[in-house]
Amino acid sequence: MKILVPVKRVIDYNVKPRVKSDGSGVDLANVKMSMNPFDEIAVEEALRLKEAGKAEEVIAVSIGPAKAQETLRTALAMGADRAILVETDEAVEPLAVAKILKAIAADEEPGIVMLGKQAIDDDSNQTGQMLAALMERPQGTFASKVEIDGDGVSVTREVDGGLETVKLTLPAIVTTDLRLNEPRYASLPNIMKAKKKPLDTKTPADYGVDVAPRLTTTNVSEPPVRQAGEIVEDVDALVAKLKALGAI
Ligand code: AMP
Repeated sequence: MKILVPVKRVIDYNVKPRVKSDGSGVDLANVKMSMNPFDEIAVEEALRLKEAGKAEEVIAVSIGPAKAQETLRTALAMGADRAILVETDEAVEPLAVAKILKAIAADEEPGIVMLGKQAIDDDSNQTGQMLAALMERPQGTFASKVEIDGDGVSVTREVDGGLETVKLTLPAIVTTDLRLNEPRYASLPNIMKAKKKPLDTKTPADYGVDVAPRLTTTNVSEPPVRQAGEIVEDVDALVAKLKALGAI
């Protein structure tokens, strides 16, 4: 079984994003970019399934600018076998990503497409669900446990009320949640080895997908600045303050 892992290049989670002064988006000039954290978890889970003898090949795919090669090399250094870059300078929306992934899945026939539950730049949480719909395959989203189970896969999902376990027939779509695993760091020898692993470059047109945006961003703004707190003398003062504010 092959596992296809889509990995997105996003602004690093440690960086505080700066909004452009004209409100048209986030300023990405000279900003550190990294693999979307949920996608690192997806790569890790795919590698663990391979190491447990449940999968033969892990293929990482990224849709984005030439620099997304770096993200793919990170996946290769973690242990993925090969990579596909679908190169475009457009900001690709989830629907177009899902269409491209569907075309790649038709070529590669993976048993599982393991995505992150969401990309931390657009917070869409749409691609996995759209891909499952387009492929007409079952989906297990927000996975906190994944187990290959005969001809299917059991996915324990983090839902509001607790945990829900679903069994999906393969091929299936799985999206990863934070508590699924702790991704490994790539060692220096593996980073060197990753440079020689195969990385194919394609374009959206190779898959017949039009990536022109369908959504228009009307405005992006910074969150409101948090008001400073106040230290009170004792509990009575705290209660009086809360009463004055109408909180109790
Ligand atoms: P989103 O629906 O944008 O929140 O993204 C959910 C997941 O879809 C991500 O965690 C990735 O696994 C995958 N994904 C989204 N955009 C891309 C992209 N441009 N390239 C590769 N994978 C992507």
